Amino acid sequence: MTRLLGKGKGPGPGLVVAVALGALVAGALALRLGSAPQTTSPAAVRSPAVAASPLAAAPPLAAAPTSSPPGAPVPPGAPGRGAASQHDLTTLEVPPKLRLLVVAPHPDDESLAAGGLMQQVLEKGGRVHVVFMTSGDGYPEAVALATGHRQPTAVDYRGFGELRRAEALVALEHYHILPVSVTFLGFPDGGLQEIWRRGPHVPAYQSPYTHDDRPPYPEAFNPHAGYTSHELINQISHLVALADPDWIAVPIPVDMHPDHCATFTFLLAALKSLAAEPGGDSKIPDRLLTYLVHDGWWPPPPSVPGPLPLPPVTFPPARWYSLPLDAAQIDAKLAALESHGTQAAMMDRLFRALARPNEIFAVVERPDFARLKPGEPPCGPELRHAEPGPQPAVVESPRQPAPTPTPADAERHARVR
Ligand SMILES: [Zn+2]
Repeated sequence: MTRLLGKGKGPGPGLVVAVALGALVAGALALRLGSAPQTTSPAAVRSPAVAASPLAAAPPLAAAPTSSPPGAPVPPGAPGRGAASQHDLTTLEVPPKLRLLVVAPHPDDESLAAGGLMQQVLEKGGRVHVVFMTSGDGYPEAVALATGHRQPTAVDYRGFGELRRAEALVALEHYHILPVSVTFLGFPDGGLQEIWRRGPHVPAYQSPYTHDDRPPYPEAFNPHAGYTSHELINQISHLVALADPDWIAVPIPVDMHPDHCATFTFLLAALKSLAAEPGGDSKIPDRLLTYLVHDGWWPPPPSVPGPLPLPPVTFPPARWYSLPLDAAQIDAKLAALESHGTQAAMMDRLFRALARPNEIFAVVERPDFARLKPGEPPCGPELRHAEPGPQPAVVESPRQPAPTPTPADAERHARVR
């Protein structure tokens, strides 16, 4: 039985102010994703409003290069890099009355990866709870754009976190998910990997952005908890016990963004912790639906039509599934993404690249994820060399090292976020 989580508070004055600020920001930037296209064609999801935006006016994205610089990963289609086709994706069926927990590193990941999944769960009588690991408060370029301050202060970063929280709540309303079903942990944007690397017995991590070593947001699940791996694992474990989910949607550990990879690591550690508690084993989900947002070669740019193809990265215990979305579900997903106004202003292309007639998930069944160890595979090559201490056994992964970015890549992923 899923309990409603969170603090049980509706949007307060701070939210109203933040939403108003968001509207001002959105209005000033005149950047919108567009609304409610009645088609499943990716080309059609680019509304006239988008076409008029400064970002949309940029030159079209280059296709994946046909040749790679020395040392770069093998491009899609080559051996070891997702040579399979769309036809290799199995259709994901959402059973009725499913309890779904969506774990998102940042506000917007929930909709980018699982906006359609959340809708289908609710349409079939299920329940959805969303947990945000961070409030996205460590994005200097976006904070500078939103505030007009070239060198944002800690106060600016905290205010930006509040704004992104407000945007997320508005976005989730498009799926009829109320704030009581949303939890913000308030951990530091950009700091999750480092918190894991430090281990449990160290002073709390301090965000270089907010300068805080604990959540600066009173609405956080536990604003008194320090930024340590021990606290974060405890909080996630507690939330999973309360939500008692059948499925958990969580980033795939081979995502290029370290916060995404670390989110998987922390969830796995929390599940291990929960399973070791009396009665905790009954709270472990049947499936993990891992999702990819950031990869050097995926998703295809918006100019490439069609459903999301099989990604060029794999996660050995997982099997890729595709969830078809209908036109109404795509509309709601686009509306939700538009509500993330500060992010739409920065990542319009990535948003449109992921707004397609399907969502894909690398599904790991319970017996398989029960055998995984937290921290395997480690998050990024830099983590593997960060500490001289004993290194965990490496789970074989065909993931290639990050590519040397081309100008097209740099434009496409102006910031991995
Ligand atoms: Zn993210």
